[in-house]
Amino acid sequence: MTAYQYWNPGVETMNRSELKALQLEKLKWAVKNALRTPFYAKRLKEAGVDSPDVIKTLDDLRRIPFTAKHDLRNGFPYGFLSVPKDEIIRLHASSGTTGTPTTIYFNREDIARWTAFVARSIYATGCNKTDVFQNMITYGLFTGGLGFHAGGEEVGMLVIPSGAGNTARQFRLMRDFGTTVVHATPSFLLHVESKMREEGVKRESLKLRKAFAGAEPYSEDTRKRIEALLAIDVYNSYGLSEMNGPGVAFECQCKNGLHLWEDGYIGEIINPDTLDPVKEGETGELVLTCLCREATPLLRYRTRDLSGFYTEPCACGRTHRRLRRITGRTDDMLIINGVNLFPSQIEEVVMSMKEAGNNYLIVVEKEGVLDRLTVRIEVSPALFTDDARLLNALKEKIRKTLQAPITINPRVELHEYGSLPVSEGKTKRVQDNRPKDI
Ligand code: ADP
Ligand code: ZN
Repeated sequence: MTAYQYWNPGVETMNRSELKALQLEKLKWAVKNALRTPFYAKRLKEAGVDSPDVIKTLDDLRRIPFTAKHDLRNGFPYGFLSVPKDEIIRLHASSGTTGTPTTIYFNREDIARWTAFVARSIYATGCNKTDVFQNMITYGLFTGGLGFHAGGEEVGMLVIPSGAGNTARQFRLMRDFGTTVVHATPSFLLHVESKMREEGVKRESLKLRKAFAGAEPYSEDTRKRIEALLAIDVYNSYGLSEMNGPGVAFECQCKNGLHLWEDGYIGEIINPDTLDPVKEGETGELVLTCLCREATPLLRYRTRDLSGFYTEPCACGRTHRRLRRITGRTDDMLIINGVNLFPSQIEEVVMSMKEAGNNYLIVVEKEGVLDRLTVRIEVSPALFTDDARLLNALKEKIRKTLQAPITINPRVELHEYGSLPVSEGKTKRVQDNRPKDI
């Protein structure tokens, strides 16, 4: 039986009614801060929320209008700032996966609060001060670098700020300092495995036992694949720069959904078309209200990420609700000859096939009036062969397996193990070459 450890037991196992009371108190604080920003001063007053006293119960959250990514962009640079400029000590910006970056400012207390959430998340996976933590993710404006770095130090681990990329150097650091825990994108972890083979790095020469994988969607099969290939425990880490960064929701040792730290964030799931709340447990767009940042308040922020809450409590004893694995964003959806397709649907199939290697790319093109979907897939090293007949049979098998769930007939291209491009940051899985309508 696992003995679960809590970083902040009082809060992590707090009963739900106390937790809700705490949220209400913090929501009033967040509204008070928001009213000091140029953006919310206008937006909240228009909605009749001209004072934190308007918020009497948590249901009053619904009186607050949503905030969207374009609001943040329009408010650039200081429309969302609630404190004097000389009080802010850091800024971060989103990696801009889907457009112009947005900027978030922190004061000293904001950084301390955020760090505590990351430390809590790391600790929930069973890590402690004896661990050596190699943070194999991009540092800089992206929050995953400094966010995990500070959280790791808070736990008391030895933190190696290796940054992303350069696998040869990563292996050297792992060996030299006995790295036990790493943080990376799931695609980089798969790449690390391919490189280990290529460079002849023996698993026994490394002390790795855990990995935090996040920043991009991945399926349960991908997790299992990384766990099997690298012989480690993989924990799903979710965060976004608008909500500080990592440490928003994280898996505990039960690895069955990500605990949303509800004393720091209020989570709602809405239908992205009607904007109404979905029924308990259903999937929809995650909307988050930040309860832990003073300098840049964000209320009812539409993340565009698709998820839903598990309804049953978690065996670890934490009372904070768990989010289901995030499958993608509302704006990731591809429409191919009128059929809706999420890249995660392809990933699920690819990663569940033992014949498929660790990397794939989705290419969409126009052929005459029709859209053409091609899936480029690396083949497992055990299977790659020059025998054209065998390769064709494999291609056909993959094509059929893909076609069944997605109802689109894809073209399949097989590629050698380790030959498709790997990015150091978030991996771009889709290349949409169709001409854009202007
Ligand atoms: P950008 O919005 O430019 O990509 P961020 O670095 O803020 O910049 O990225 C946050 C986004 O990354 C989330 O909104 C989500 O779409 C994605 N993401 C982060 N962690 C996960 C995860 N564990 N699973 C799926 N998606 C994730
Ligand atoms: Zn749990």
